[in-house]
Amino acid sequence: MSGYHSPQVDVPIRLNTNESPFPPPESWLDELSEIVRSIEWNRYPDRGATHLREVIAARHGVSVNQVFVANGSNEVLQTILLAYGGAGRRVATFEPTYQMYAQIARVTGAEVVSGERRADLTLDEFEIERVMGMHSPAVTFLCNPNNPTGLVEPRENLRSLLDQATGIVVVDEAYAEFSEWSALEMFSEDLPMAVTRTFSKTLSMAALRIGYVVAPSWIIENLEIAALPYHLDSFKQAATVAALGFVNEMEDRVSVIKDERERISKFIGNLDADVWPSGSNFILFRPRSAGATVVWNALLKNGILVRDCSSWPRLEGCLRVTVGTESENSSFLSALAEALSS
Ligand code: PMP
Repeated sequence: MSGYHSPQVDVPIRLNTNESPFPPPESWLDELSEIVRSIEWNRYPDRGATHLREVIAARHGVSVNQVFVANGSNEVLQTILLAYGGAGRRVATFEPTYQMYAQIARVTGAEVVSGERRADLTLDEFEIERVMGMHSPAVTFLCNPNNPTGLVEPRENLRSLLDQATGIVVVDEAYAEFSEWSALEMFSEDLPMAVTRTFSKTLSMAALRIGYVVAPSWIIENLEIAALPYHLDSFKQAATVAALGFVNEMEDRVSVIKDERERISKFIGNLDADVWPSGSNFILFRPRSAGATVVWNALLKNGILVRDCSSWPRLEGCLRVTVGTESENSSFLSALAEALSS
């Protein structure tokens, strides 16, 4: 196997990893210094992260035993796969999608079964039927909105997955705040559905490494068996509780990003490129005449880093750009217009 890499280059405008372009609020930073002093550093943290889970549970109107928190949603996904993947089990994905599902599943020894999206990268319900019927996966992943396509999944696809699921269905909502709907609308203790979220995007805290899952308590119990003792340090628990005090402020920024997203999509749509509609904070596009890697290099020469997806299976010729600040986006668009016209 090889590892999952997200190449970084030191450039002024980084639009390649779907982070928030805005730093967290100053007032949160002020609170952090008090938090550092208040921690009993010689003691292990609260293993159950109870207070933090209470605050997250209240945010979503669920109970504390329906929430599990970890170091980024990647660790949440890993914990799910440690509990429900493993040798002798199948894990289903619908490609192209976030690559870590298949990567982590294989690391646990599970067999990965890949459903295929249509040529336009949308998901066909007959393909869902085929994958679920043929493979009876222990875990099925649906990323909504999907990374790297940005497409919002129709509700019917999730309903159909849940109707046919023999194992659990994980809906990865890393980008939910930018989207049109959330699977949490359907959440119930009786449905085998887990919904993952992250603080890395809307909440501007990718450096903090925090993510969580809302799931029925019988799933959470199994995640707690798979998680390491004290996996979530005291500082992180307290810093995240403090961060949740600023959620509304952070969510106000979502509309700024969505407006910029529409501006970028429209602009690219008028260039010599195909662009996919996005319900996320990034946009997938495919230059028609110019080669993707040539365009990627031309952008880099202008100090702008986007994600080159052109060598990924099913994404030939595609690039993905994260929505940045207004001025970053403007620099990107003028460099792109130049690259596509030359
Ligand atoms: N899920 C998806 C779909 C993502 O794009 C990402 C980040 N690239 C993650 C999960 C992981 O996010 P984090 O570990 O920062 O919470």
